[in-house]
Amino acid sequence: MRLRPLVCIALLLLADCGAYHAARLVVAGGSRTLRERPKDAPASSPARPALLVLAIDGVDRSLLYDMLRGGELPGLAALLGGTAGNFSHAYFDQDLVATLPSSTLAAWSTAMTGAPPAVHGVTGNEFFIRSERRFAAPAPVSFDDATPVLETYTDDYVNNLIGAPTVYEHMRARDPDVLIWVAMHQISRGADRLLLTRRKVLVDAFQAYAEKETEEFAEGKRSRKDFEALDTEVIHDVVARLDDGPLPDVLTVYVSGTDLFTHVAPEGPDAARRAYLREVLDPLFVDLREALAKRGGLDDRYVVVTADHGHTQVLHDTVHALGADPNGGAVALLRLAGFRVRPLMLDVPADADFQAVVAYGGALAYVYPAIGPAVRLRATSATGRSRHASTRTCWRSPMRSTRTTFTGPMRRSCAARSTWS
Ligand SMILES: [Zn+2]
Repeated sequence: MRLRPLVCIALLLLADCGAYHAARLVVAGGSRTLRERPKDAPASSPARPALLVLAIDGVDRSLLYDMLRGGELPGLAALLGGTAGNFSHAYFDQDLVATLPSSTLAAWSTAMTGAPPAVHGVTGNEFFIRSERRFAAPAPVSFDDATPVLETYTDDYVNNLIGAPTVYEHMRARDPDVLIWVAMHQISRGADRLLLTRRKVLVDAFQAYAEKETEEFAEGKRSRKDFEALDTEVIHDVVARLDDGPLPDVLTVYVSGTDLFTHVAPEGPDAARRAYLREVLDPLFVDLREALAKRGGLDDRYVVVTADHGHTQVLHDTVHALGADPNGGAVALLRLAGFRVRPLMLDVPADADFQAVVAYGGALAYVYPAIGPAVRLRATSATGRSRHASTRTCWRSPMRSTRTTFTGPMRRSCAARSTWS
């Protein structure tokens, strides 16, 4: 992916030590060292222009451009070297579009690899990996469990799902000394350092976003403060770290309240995002700009503003909405059709038997039926006698990213392996 010079605003969400040590860091706030720099390596690579990536979740270009040109975001405008209506050094991109699906993790994975979901493999916020019989949920929706969200920062949950080189890995291949910091973005593979908020701040924001809380927002019992707290801590932590030491050549800062709050805001997406951008993020961008400018960190630095997707207001129609109801919707339909449906949860026992999987896919329905007949597994006893062990459903076909047909090879490919179930 070639990075554009000047300011590129596009429709696109941007997330090593031992696990125990990393988990402690998140609990306490702090940062993870993702790679040790060689002892004789320079601290950074100032020979090339530096880069600041502002990754703003859930803000489409028409809304952001309108606010910038209308003078509603003076802090962000100053970071872009302009003022209301005058952005002589900025390039407002009109072409880049979000992925299909325009879900957060699929879109950020594309933004950070340049590859489409069919190639990098992160096809949504939840999806099922047939070949591994594994449910992946980098942003859980169909169940309420923050574990993958936390593991994204402690154990590279999203990094490990992405099957394509990241933009940071591309950069490092060309410039091994480039110093890359990533603040709270889900994708950080190839960077030097991952800056983290305190665990409680992240969990509070996730809980506020979880569906059970939406009624409290509608009734005015909750405010956007949990989302504000998360974004404020992200940027203030970056500001504090810019105070001394080498400045990062590439700095990615991820803010998510624009998306998380918008999902639950009773006033609707446009009003919620406008207020959040103006009242919460813009003052934080002032702080970020001052911290960089104080160190001369903006003198030769491109600023890229990007997002993962927008928001479209729809009627509040719970009757026809696609959701992930454990006893309704697609799950109930599949059960009526005779399928045994995988429970809506992250992990199930290894011997759990199911023939269909439902993942939350936003405006799309993600239903994974098993293809073809069940296959009877055989096990060999200690005496060498063969006996029937169980009947399991084949999940190896169709494979990801291949053009296999649904008939013929399926049984062979299943039967040829011993690990499938
Ligand atoms: Zn998003």
